[in-house]
Amino acid sequence: MKCNLGGEFSNGELQRFGNIEVSPSAGVLNYGQGLFEGMKAYRKQDGKNILLFRPEENATRMRCGAERMCMPAPTIDQFVEAVKATVLANKRWVPPPGKGSLYIRPLLMGTGAVLGLAPAPEYTFLVYVSPVGNYFKEGVSPINLIVESEFHRATPGGTGGVKTIGNYAAVLKAQSVAKAKGYSDVLYLDCIYKRYLEEVSSCNIFIVKTFAKHLKDNVVSTPEIRGTILPGITRKSIVDVARSQGLKVEERNVTVDELLEADEVFCTGTAVVVSPVGSITYKGKRVSYGEGSFGSVSEKLYTVLTSLQMGLTEDNMKWTVNLS
Ligand code: PMP
Repeated sequence: MKCNLGGEFSNGELQRFGNIEVSPSAGVLNYGQGLFEGMKAYRKQDGKNILLFRPEENATRMRCGAERMCMPAPTIDQFVEAVKATVLANKRWVPPPGKGSLYIRPLLMGTGAVLGLAPAPEYTFLVYVSPVGNYFKEGVSPINLIVESEFHRATPGGTGGVKTIGNYAAVLKAQSVAKAKGYSDVLYLDCIYKRYLEEVSSCNIFIVKTFAKHLKDNVVSTPEIRGTILPGITRKSIVDVARSQGLKVEERNVTVDELLEADEVFCTGTAVVVSPVGSITYKGKRVSYGEGSFGSVSEKLYTVLTSLQMGLTEDNMKWTVNLS
């Protein structure tokens, strides 16, 4: 779909996946004027129906990001319709139940030519898809994170709270160094006090304090949304799922010391779903959690969320959208 600055998006059509042509002075190439979303479609047990998860949340997040990035954005309906049409046209690529999902990448970018620093005069919104399996090579086994003290992902007043492409450029270096050392990913701290947890390169973080054997007596905490953290849709859903299971949930500043003393740690995101963290390395010291598998609280949350996303349980939350 195309749009001029200030205009309305139109001309949406399905096209075969391939290269697109843009001006060398396109806003997205020169000034990083781009936003994206990440979503997944799962095939239901019947093999026919396909489920989307809270697509209007992604549409709304893209619209918030567009405001921050001085871009026009598709309406919620245009966004959701484009996603549905793309998934339906690629139905055969949605893996069988239990074998992965179809990853959906909506992308909004300044494709108009602009030389001096300014918003581009023209925009393109497109959606492409690809079948995917697990995000981490560990699968659903625990991942190993390193707390990053030197590099930061986002600064107050910056763009860390929206899903703009430049945020991902900022993490490439720290992530590559960490991966070369054998870590699964990087956990970032706030850049002022270097003490409060922010998030991982592509997911949000939770800690669990298990006070008792009963699930509901435990406390799940996650950094509050404060402009430097992406408001993850999985994060928001896990907060609701945890509360629906009777757990106490706190959205607040979480310190790195609390992280090191937690009983369970897990990450959430569309790509990573709910991934247990097996160890954290901070200032050269490694702390381990669990015994090579999910902790009981994170496993419960994983099971409730994924059963809903895959259509294995009744969707009381009304979060899934059925395509057939
Ligand atoms: N933080 C970052 C930096 C991300 O890229 C993502 C993935 N979109 C998330 C958190 C998790 O967001 P969501 O649950 O909406 O996928």
